[in-house]
Amino acid sequence: MQTAAIIVAAGRGTRAGGPVAKQWQSVAGRPVARWTLEVFAPVAQLILVVHPEDSARAAAVAQGLDVTIVEGGATRDASVRAGLEALSAAAPDLVLIHDVARPCVSRGLIDRVIAALATSPGAAPALAVTDALWSGADGQVTGTHDRAGLYRAQTPQGFRYAEILAAHRAHTGGAADDVEVARASGLDVAIVPGEERNLKITGPEDFARAATLLETGMDIRLGNGFDVHRFGPGDHVMLCGVRVPHPRGLVGHSDADVGLHAVTDALYGALAEGDIGRHFPPSDPQWKGAESHVFLRHACKLAREKGFAISNVDCTLICEQPKIGPHAEAMMQAMAAIMDVAPDRVSVKATTSERLGFTGREEGIAALATATLVAS
Ligand code: MG
Repeated sequence: MQTAAIIVAAGRGTRAGGPVAKQWQSVAGRPVARWTLEVFAPVAQLILVVHPEDSARAAAVAQGLDVTIVEGGATRDASVRAGLEALSAAAPDLVLIHDVARPCVSRGLIDRVIAALATSPGAAPALAVTDALWSGADGQVTGTHDRAGLYRAQTPQGFRYAEILAAHRAHTGGAADDVEVARASGLDVAIVPGEERNLKITGPEDFARAATLLETGMDIRLGNGFDVHRFGPGDHVMLCGVRVPHPRGLVGHSDADVGLHAVTDALYGALAEGDIGRHFPPSDPQWKGAESHVFLRHACKLAREKGFAISNVDCTLICEQPKIGPHAEAMMQAMAAIMDVAPDRVSVKATTSERLGFTGREEGIAALATATLVAS
């Protein structure tokens, strides 16, 4: 079965506030339309119907996805018709028609609509009305209504392609949605249980609700790292990318920057990509004396290649000497520059071990780190 999805995004209304239409505004870190496209991308051939003046913006939002951008018409049903006609050369079996402003739709709901089309020419999600219904005027209740048998309609509304195309071609006059067009043509439409999370972004408050729903579905990865280097001869130590004068140095195969090593291992850990030793074997002479920012840059590059943004890192240095406080700000700035993230996403702090253990005896410095990655 070939399934296509028409994402209707031709509206230009700014009722939700902001300088551009709501589907191009950002929610939970990416445009509303991007979230919507990504839900449907694994299951359907994608058609994005937009206003002619939004074509370039739509192309940018759809970048990296296999999406055909189609210019819509003056009304919603004209826009859907344009999307349906764009599919006619290589007609799919089924088509799902979805409002772009419902980015929280679940894969489960999409699958249920598709499944219902096995026994019905049309299927659409809806929720039974559970609140009492009134009519009102001038701030006064003027009547009450029976809610039995009433539903709140959602999308995606699914249809057998040939039948909904014929229905749209035959339809004259406007329609609130595609179920109305289908029924005007005599097609049966089955009701599939909808989802409260499948809200339609209409006003500004809906962005906050959608952001909460989308963020809880985010792919977030945590990693930790720990490292120790012993003191040896020298006149400085490298800590978190900063050269700190000290009567002793740290011994290591590389520049022995224990802080950068812990942060790098935290990033590899979040990616389930082993540790520094796996990517830069100590047995390989080319890493002798290497500057440790090379390792950290590699871990950051790997994270981005795997589709993750670095949300934050936190590094704790454990030593009696040197004192870290005077250098902490420079260390945060240095790590932020190496990682190409904002400085407020990088933390460096220090503690002693109360003169206990190897760090207390000033035999070496330990560092531990945590990193958070978010799928981008
Ligand atoms: Mg190390």
